[in-house]
Amino acid sequence: MLRIPLVLELIVNAFAVPGLQISSSVVYQDILEKVHAEIAPVIGKGSLPGYIPALAEVDPASFGIALVSVTGEVAGVGEWLRPFSVQSLSKVFAFSLVLASDGAAIWHRVGHEPSVHRFDSVIDLELDRGIPRNPLVNAGALVTVDRLLSLTGDAQGELLEFLREECGNPYLEVDEVVAKSELDGAHRNAALAHLMAEFGNLHNPVAEVLAHYSRQCAIAMSCRDVALAARFLARRGVLADGTRLLPAGDTKRLNATMLVAGMYDRAGEVAYRVGLPAKSGVGGGIVAVVPNRCTLCVWSPGLDEHGNSVAGVAALDAFTTLTGWSVF
Ligand code: GLN
Repeated sequence: MLRIPLVLELIVNAFAVPGLQISSSVVYQDILEKVHAEIAPVIGKGSLPGYIPALAEVDPASFGIALVSVTGEVAGVGEWLRPFSVQSLSKVFAFSLVLASDGAAIWHRVGHEPSVHRFDSVIDLELDRGIPRNPLVNAGALVTVDRLLSLTGDAQGELLEFLREECGNPYLEVDEVVAKSELDGAHRNAALAHLMAEFGNLHNPVAEVLAHYSRQCAIAMSCRDVALAARFLARRGVLADGTRLLPAGDTKRLNATMLVAGMYDRAGEVAYRVGLPAKSGVGGGIVAVVPNRCTLCVWSPGLDEHGNSVAGVAALDAFTTLTGWSVF
């Protein structure tokens, strides 16, 4: 049972009153420290993803968490400034760029249903005749990259530019070692891409799509960077500079898709425990959105059998239990 001092409980409850504007990064900091202490016993649990050898070289006992409020307050604990491999977190951002350009039309090439098999499974894709279940599994992300390539000619470069801009970090880069490690063993992703090409749902050469996809997954970002970059998802589509990336309705639909599909075949369990739109990556990162309030990014490399960070899910569970800030 999570216990918090009464004074913190009162402040947290004050935050929960709609319309009441109390903001203090000191309070956010205190909340994250409590979360960290609560979940310390599970940090280091889980396994590293052997199918991308470069990702298995990280210390499984690493942990960081960052929170960025919609008004720009930043708090963080642990290794929250240390870059890690974003992997599938990139899928949310790349899809947002495509959604911004295509609107509802992109949903004809990719669905918004949960997936019941692993994130890189080919089973659903064959049954659904080349239309991925959602943009947050590998097949859906390959369609996203394909579309971004058609729109821009440089899908990964466009994404990197967007991320640099949103988190105000011009030094974000692709980790070339991770990118090569992933591309060298990308047999499943190649199978997914070829299957979609055969169904007519991939328009660029498979090799080009795979190269851009591997590089976007290999972008290295810190928890702070990710939480900052995702802020538009908590701000009804409005970017850091006040311009709009997505209409509020599209932001709502993307958050809903994250809730039902962002944690893959464990999305139901995570919705049950955490109650927030979230997206995980096999680098051990999870980005979560508290609409109209804040974004969170937690990183800890030990994964469960579904590819979700064990300590990351525990931290989000502790966070929403402590604060009451879930969408439910
Ligand atoms: N790059 C990884 C892959 O394609 C991303 C998977 C993930 O993070 N879940 O398998």
